[in-house]
Amino acid sequence: MPIERVGVIGAGTMGNGIAHVFARSGYRVTLCDVEQRFLDRGLETIGKNLDRELAKGKITAGDKAAALKRIVTVLERAELATCDFVIEAATEKFEIKAEIFRDLDQICRPEVILASNTSSISITRLAAVTRRPAKIIGMHFFNPVPVMKLAEVIRGLATSQETYATVRDLALQLDKTPIEVNDAPGFVSNRVLMPLLNEAMYAVMEGVATPEAVDEVFKLGMAHPMGPLTLADFIGLDVCLDIMRVLQDGLGDPKYRPCPLLIKMVDAGWLGKKSGRGFYKY
Ligand code: NAD
Repeated sequence: MPIERVGVIGAGTMGNGIAHVFARSGYRVTLCDVEQRFLDRGLETIGKNLDRELAKGKITAGDKAAALKRIVTVLERAELATCDFVIEAATEKFEIKAEIFRDLDQICRPEVILASNTSSISITRLAAVTRRPAKIIGMHFFNPVPVMKLAEVIRGLATSQETYATVRDLALQLDKTPIEVNDAPGFVSNRVLMPLLNEAMYAVMEGVATPEAVDEVFKLGMAHPMGPLTLADFIGLDVCLDIMRVLQDGLGDPKYRPCPLLIKMVDAGWLGKKSGRGFYKY
């Protein structure tokens, strides 16, 4: 079945980026969220990010207009019934995603693949709430989606080879590089990245070094484009904590214990860049 119309659930940071790259690559996109203001904000962000690509000479004014024309926004999930592929980028809570997958399973044709952009939730568990577990897969993009090359493609226990191959080809169509991984807590990206950020937080908490010093060590010594604490602020400290808890619960090894300083900062509402304060002030 050729994929022409793509449904994207959630118009936030990741959802609008995913809608952007599909529309820019010629797909018709139906973007769905729970409130009109989230859809409006998502479209506004897509417009700004397309302008950025225009200014860099990556696309023409005609490409921008055509991409925007390919996106429709909807509040009713039932309108995704005509989609050939749906990717979910809603809030990172299992109950929210499970409700969406149960509903999409009713709404979409049986042959339609349903993907999740989750950072850490089990694809196998999401698949189990549907009657099409072979057609459920993780398609994990990175922020900012229009810029970052990686699509981590996660096979749940029941994901079929055909589903995997379709999503791998889809990622290539979007000019992304698909990397195949199996379903496990945090997949590869967050299983390796988050303990690094968490350990950097321990170093700060224990007075080994300041956030600035830790970040400089990684920028100058390891050629990281940004240090781990800047990155944690950028991702959101609440998101970092949620992912550490998924690793801790799923793998059971004490090495995944979230840093107490991280917990305290989240309790204080210091969530990083989005709240104006994290390891740095914004
Ligand atoms: P976000 O908070 O910016 O956006 C989430 C959007 O989902 C919001 O607009 C919200 O209104 C909408 N939403 C919530 N429940 C919904 C529902 N039932 N139906 C439709 N829309 C609903 O979050 P985000 O950062 O874009 O993250 C989305 C997903 O992408 C999460 O699973 C997250 O783990 C994953 N992710 C995030 C990043 C990142 O750097 N932010 C990177 C990779 C993956």
